[in-house]
Amino acid sequence: MKLTILGCHSATPRTNTNPTSQVLEIKNRMFLIDCGEGTQVELRRNKIKFSRIKHIFISHLHGDHCFGLVGLISTFRLLGRDTDLNIYAPKGLKEVITLQLKLSDSWTNYNLYFHELTSKSSELIYEDDKVEVHTIPLDHRVYTNGFLFKEKIGERKLDMNAVLNHNIDVAYYRKLKQGFDVEDNDGNLIKNETVTKPPLKPKSYAFCSDTAYNESILPIIKNVDVLYHESTFLEKNEQLAEPTKHSTAKQAASIAKQANAGTLILGHYSTRYDDLSLFKQEASEIYSETIKLAKDGRQFNFD
Ligand SMILES: [Zn+2]
Repeated sequence: MKLTILGCHSATPRTNTNPTSQVLEIKNRMFLIDCGEGTQVELRRNKIKFSRIKHIFISHLHGDHCFGLVGLISTFRLLGRDTDLNIYAPKGLKEVITLQLKLSDSWTNYNLYFHELTSKSSELIYEDDKVEVHTIPLDHRVYTNGFLFKEKIGERKLDMNAVLNHNIDVAYYRKLKQGFDVEDNDGNLIKNETVTKPPLKPKSYAFCSDTAYNESILPIIKNVDVLYHESTFLEKNEQLAEPTKHSTAKQAASIAKQANAGTLILGHYSTRYDDLSLFKQEASEIYSETIKLAKDGRQFNFD
């Protein structure tokens, strides 16, 4: 599982910082999460192949999370894309994008599917044989979802030393990986757990931006391996967090602690702060596990 931060600041693009966007690679799938202005430039800078992006998840319709989308859709068309693009976003974005494409006579030559979100409860919005994605309803000024990406439990691993001690036909290896007992060539029953090892623990990633401090997300993100939680403000500016429905670094750390998250990544910093190390310092007073600071262009590997 690999996360690339394309942008992690709030509000406006600036000379050296971008609004929110990130790419999650999980089980060889590539998911784009939010698409602030500048996303396509950052995708190029980070050498991420546009054609690998087939699913885009948009948390909410504030500009710093989606103003890069119509540009990206348009660039895909200019590059001759022919694969489908799926967009999971709050209801309303389809109308905005469709109007822009219509008025500029720029219809895509690939299929564009909008999956409009309206539910205030967590729901499964994407699933394939290896990964599933659930929404995390957040508390913000407009309808907002975070997203929980979860690997499914994989197959058992063959213990080749043990397997080769038995006269097992290679054709049965698949059955063994699926957890079945098999017979060897002499008719002996081979118990699965004697020749296989359990699958690797599935990984999970929760993206939570933008949101006020919100304990109701805890059951959804419990024991998540990696939690990205917005920390727009430091505690000294908590009076700004409340009316704008954002969080402080201290609040993000408190959510991470209560959720028993393995790693906390902080981001969505207000542009008023120059020294981002203060965010880590504030969070580490609450949360003793690994804390990382998101930074544009920074990659995190979780293998
Ligand atoms: Zn917002």
